[in-house]
Amino acid sequence: MDFISTRDTTRKAYTSAQVIKMGLAPDGGLFVPAQIPHLTQDDISALASRSYPERAAKILSLYLSDYSYDELLEDCKKAYCEQSFPGGAAPLCSVRDNIFSLELWHGPTAAFKDMALQIMPRLLSRALQKTGETKTALILVATSGDTGKAALEGYKDIPQVKIQVFYPSDGVSRVQKLQMATQTGKNVDVCAINGNFDDAQNGVKRIFANREMAQKLADKGFVLSSANSINWGRLAPQIAYYVSAYCDLLNTGEIRNGDLVDFCVPTGNFGNIFAAYLAKRMGLPVRKLICASNSNHILTDFFARGEYDRNRPFFLTMSPSMDILISSNLERLLYFAAGPQETAKLMEQLRSDGRYEVSTKTLESIRNDFSAYYADETETACTIKELFSNDHYLCDTHTGVAMCCACKYLAKEGAEIPLVVDSTASPYKFAADVLKSITGTSPSDPLSALDELSALSGTEIAYPLRGIGSREVRFTGSIDPSCMEDRVLAFAKND
Ligand SMILES: *Cc1c(COP(=O)(O)O)cnc(C)c1O
Repeated sequence: MDFISTRDTTRKAYTSAQVIKMGLAPDGGLFVPAQIPHLTQDDISALASRSYPERAAKILSLYLSDYSYDELLEDCKKAYCEQSFPGGAAPLCSVRDNIFSLELWHGPTAAFKDMALQIMPRLLSRALQKTGETKTALILVATSGDTGKAALEGYKDIPQVKIQVFYPSDGVSRVQKLQMATQTGKNVDVCAINGNFDDAQNGVKRIFANREMAQKLADKGFVLSSANSINWGRLAPQIAYYVSAYCDLLNTGEIRNGDLVDFCVPTGNFGNIFAAYLAKRMGLPVRKLICASNSNHILTDFFARGEYDRNRPFFLTMSPSMDILISSNLERLLYFAAGPQETAKLMEQLRSDGRYEVSTKTLESIRNDFSAYYADETETACTIKELFSNDHYLCDTHTGVAMCCACKYLAKEGAEIPLVVDSTASPYKFAADVLKSITGTSPSDPLSALDELSALSGTEIAYPLRGIGSREVRFTGSIDPSCMEDRVLAFAKND
């Protein structure tokens, strides 16, 4: 299977190992598969009797053709092992009649980014070997919270890789700070920046753009690499859990092979829902993909009008991982709907004007596959409370947004087929807001919110967050953004 850039009309081909190592295409576009592989009904029946790692290895093998199935299976077994995912990799939970929750947060950081970041570092490590790279990859991450921790857990102790994470000292929650400061692993560094998220992000961008830094690092045997969500190595593993959810519905007799289902996905960068789109295009019987947004509903507006416009107010919500005005992975959908030439033009307009508009024909073709809704803060809190009181289902704030959007969709379309809602974080990851949504009052402090929520719901605190207040802190202090280069150079040594 070849990969090409979303903006390249010449369709220059790359292997999957190359695209996982490179991240972004040289022309600034994102890598997409040159064709979409097909999954037959027989393939799906065969996968239904398999474990999650086997299902994932099969899906990955259809795209990563320069990796052997055995290599992929070995990596999937390690990534999705019982120790890392004690509650199962992607269990499907019945919430009420015909509504199911696909719980993607049973991994080591209690959020769905683990589904990709537990496997992608292993794919990168192999990509370095396959492309004859002898240098060590140095992953730099600027984080406002969740991604940094998930990347640290994924890359720790992976061969030929080191990871360094920068976060704003005042821009992350107390729990998030503790999660990162207590990070284990020999090849990790965590560093607080005196400043906000933009300062951390700009520092990392500055280092990536600095040729002198690249040379200095190369002399020391290092090459910079990133872990962000536009990398194909993060996207591909996400296709697997849509197929897996379908298999689980087959196994419980909810559906027969070939029956249609709907998926509803809480969306930020458009990565997770784009993986669902690929599953649909591969032949998984899906009726609609429901794109769920919070008060930052730039995507809902896009699906309604065909206009993507960043020039709008930005809101901080209780579902922070969806507080996004640039949904980078939407570019991949534009490529499949409108082709590389049009995509390059629209992305240039986005860069220069902060907006673009797709043709009526493109919008119509997109609307065949997608529906879009949003939920504001009050609606989200109400949904969390109702699910808890009426259905005894406890969910986090991002899942709350998606559940609310799912209900809006059902009110319009009817509930005659199963609807699977992606649950992207453990309720304990956002315990204070979940508690407030249910009881109406804020807990006294963020750490006691964990115990209070456990007492209220009779459920156990997610394992990665248990006892977090008493773990050994390994990384203390903070530096000015201007000192980031020195910190990187000091970390770049092989021991
Ligand atoms: C990252 C994230 C999302 C958004 O996923 P995208 O792939 O960026 O659309 C939703 N919920 C949670 C909890 C997340 O961490």
